[in-house]
Amino acid sequence: MGEDKALCENCELEIDESSDFCPRCGTLFTEGIKCANHPSTDADYVCVICGDPFCKRCGSIVSGIFLCELHDSYEIYEGMARVYGSSDVAQVNFVKDCLEQGALHPFIYSRKASPLHLGGSDYSLFRASGDFNGHIINEVKVMVPCSEVLEAEKIIEELNLETDK
Ligand SMILES: [Zn+2]
Ligand SMILES: [Zn+2]
Ligand SMILES: [Zn+2]
Repeated sequence: MGEDKALCENCELEIDESSDFCPRCGTLFTEGIKCANHPSTDADYVCVICGDPFCKRCGSIVSGIFLCELHDSYEIYEGMARVYGSSDVAQVNFVKDCLEQGALHPFIYSRKASPLHLGGSDYSLFRASGDFNGHIINEVKVMVPCSEVLEAEKIIEELNLETDK
């Protein structure tokens, strides 16, 4: 560990000592920052998707990372959030290419060909989002790092894709 490195006390990610918050779990290290919703309450976390500070009451911990109320419905896995899903693999690959062209870091997660070698019925790792209607099982997901979610969604929106939903 270098001299200007520190460990996040919550998730043990190695971070720069000058960091205000942990980019992986959202734990806030700097004192005196106030919750975006409660100007008189100290913030405890930073939403890893929007980067705004919040107190404990204004969000929830999802898979070990903090998300604000606006963003706590994302499916999260290992610090990545699902931004797109389809049973059409070609379309998923197209989305991934577009995100890469936008200098983002997407990866594709599917149950059949998981790059993560999870094994077993790994869908328990994902929180079911929305109605479970059979699509979720065959869905191929595009995941991006949480900090890239908002940018990724902007790009995807501009593609005007048809979705399964
Ligand atoms: Zn952390
Ligand atoms: Zn947020
Ligand atoms: Zn609050």
